[in-house]
Amino acid sequence: MSTVYLNGEFLPADQAMISPLDRGFVFGDGVYEVIPVYGRQLFRLGEHLRRLDASLSGVRIDSPHEEREWTHILGDLVARHEAPDQSIYLQITRGVARRDHAFPRATRPTVFAMSSPLSPVSDEVRRNGVAAITLADTRWEYCHLKTISLLPNILLRQEALDRGAAEAILIRNGEITEGAASNLFIVRDDVVMTPPKGPRLLPGITRDLVMELAAAHGIAQRETAITPAELARADEIWLTSSTREILPVTRLDDAAIGGGRPGPMWTRMIALYQEYKREYHADGGRARG
Ligand code: PMP
Repeated sequence: MSTVYLNGEFLPADQAMISPLDRGFVFGDGVYEVIPVYGRQLFRLGEHLRRLDASLSGVRIDSPHEEREWTHILGDLVARHEAPDQSIYLQITRGVARRDHAFPRATRPTVFAMSSPLSPVSDEVRRNGVAAITLADTRWEYCHLKTISLLPNILLRQEALDRGAAEAILIRNGEITEGAASNLFIVRDDVVMTPPKGPRLLPGITRDLVMELAAAHGIAQRETAITPAELARADEIWLTSSTREILPVTRLDDAAIGGGRPGPMWTRMIALYQEYKREYHADGGRARG
């Protein structure tokens, strides 16, 4: 049984117990992070912890730990698992209290973390890409916070799966926001583009790294609003996330994108991404934070 972390203890997953009165269970009142681990090293931990702090303060939960303590807890969790590549899930809820919408007065947040093996994206996907559909973005106005209240995202992703696609690409007020669990990029005339940050999308750690890598390697890149028409006309479409890295979308709403094959800019960017991972690992994750 896999070891998990719960409120200061490491224990087998089947012995980790949480009260049904936990506000995470009753209200979905909490936030989370998903942090990839490569070669047993937490990837871009500093960036994930800064976003965690932003999510916590955004929902007014006092951070239960400082960066040094998180690093220690999560490092310990990684060390207790065999797989070199892992996906760390960290969740913090407002804690256990009598059911009442109002914040409880003196409740300690619940802190839970677990590790799962991280499987690389399949060769089939790398060769052929994935399908996506566009759907109306039915979520709320605080999509920049990584909250555990994911029911709208779940319904959107499931609709995509039911229609034979891997992801839903979301449209709000005539602009693309992001995927149901990923950020969106398009390539047009060799320019890499993604919507600007704001309350309508999650500031993805992978998104930022892709923009950084483009800038560092002289690839033209721009943060700009993207309309559904521009999406449909794109030379390439990518979806980014910590667990799936950079996924090429080769079918959109049943039409081929880029001739139905991952494009040349994706091939270049995924190589830069893998190279960055190797260097990050080689320098112990320290130099780059
Ligand atoms: N947007 C949403 C809605 C997501 O759920 C995710 C994945 N957690 C992302 C974007 C990508 O973020 P990251 O690159 O930090 O995993």
